[in-house]
Amino acid sequence: MTDRFIPLVDQRLTTAGSTIPSELEAPTGLLSDTLARPLQDLRISVTDRCNFRCVYCMPKAIFGKDHAFMPHSALLSFEEITRIARIFVAHGVGKIRLTGGEPLLRKDIERLIAMLSALRTPDGQPLDLTLTTNGALLARKAQALKDAGLQRVTVSLDALDDEIFQRMNDVGFPVADVLHGIETAHKVGLGPIKINMVVKRGMNDHEIVPMARHFKGSPFILRFIEYMDVGTSNGWKMDEVIPSADIVRQINAEMPLEAINPNYTGETAERWRYRDGGGEIGLISSVTRAFCRDCTRARLSTEGKLYTCLFATGGNDLRALLRDGRSDEEISTVVAHVWRARSDRYSELRTANTEGLNQTGRKVEMSYIGG
Ligand code: SAM
Repeated sequence: MTDRFIPLVDQRLTTAGSTIPSELEAPTGLLSDTLARPLQDLRISVTDRCNFRCVYCMPKAIFGKDHAFMPHSALLSFEEITRIARIFVAHGVGKIRLTGGEPLLRKDIERLIAMLSALRTPDGQPLDLTLTTNGALLARKAQALKDAGLQRVTVSLDALDDEIFQRMNDVGFPVADVLHGIETAHKVGLGPIKINMVVKRGMNDHEIVPMARHFKGSPFILRFIEYMDVGTSNGWKMDEVIPSADIVRQINAEMPLEAINPNYTGETAERWRYRDGGGEIGLISSVTRAFCRDCTRARLSTEGKLYTCLFATGGNDLRALLRDGRSDEEISTVVAHVWRARSDRYSELRTANTEGLNQTGRKVEMSYIGG
């Protein structure tokens, strides 16, 4: 457990609404920010609720029984989400990931997936539509998700050892049920499936090699994520981060690896494959090898704020524009201005003191902005 908690500031209520530029513009699909990064991906948080209380993400001490989650009226409706998504697609987004909180907790999520899967890029292509889940409800929902048009899923799994896993999710949820969810998703054709393991020193680092062994030779791609200083409630410390290079070293000692090229520019994971043909793994080194210069992601929070960085302290209120009766052209122009002005590169500027960069505001929580 962490030994330091900072009270959660309600960022949800503090950022101001967006103003509409006087000159409206049509989307060109070619937006680029101050560092020449194109807008290509949109992550949408569909709920701030989760059925896990992972100690590094939504610790019980803060997200306890009394925590006030957002009222339903604050959440973007499926129609509002789809309208915003359509605007982003016109701006060049080809990939949408649903996240949260736990996205499978959002009632009728299949209906949203069906609406999003009907969208087409300006050249008529379907979107790359995916979802990140803790897997708890996956076995039950996989077929309906597939039928609605979801292409693939990423499942978070931090350990195979049941005791460690339950200590980390802090709600006593068993590993076997997540593994069953992964198998079911695979059977219904939600693939390729990626498995994300956040590694925290002293908590699950001795699960690195067992996890690699378990998924080697399987159809699933295991990815190790460096524990990050998102939000302010997890009491992050640099010495709790296991650098990706150490993870590769540990696995390589038993199962020899070689580096392979990224699938595309801006891919978050560095790829390594087993020399004996046993498949590949990914390393997401957001702390030790930050990849801000290739970041093409925008994030839409549960209540409709647009964030241009996972480590942001404020967002632009698109929901206010929607509920003010603003036109698509007006909202699209705001999005264009926000992206063009974007200069965030938090991870590249990160200091060992996580608060050093945040004198003016608290970073939003991952459960609110979406992972
Ligand atoms: N509930 C879903 C899930 O469990 O995948 C989606 C939301 S969760 C916030 C998305 C991902 O963020 C998970 O893989 C989680 O492990 C990861 N995550 C949360 N806090 C993190 C942190 N401090 N550092 C690195 N990854 C983190």
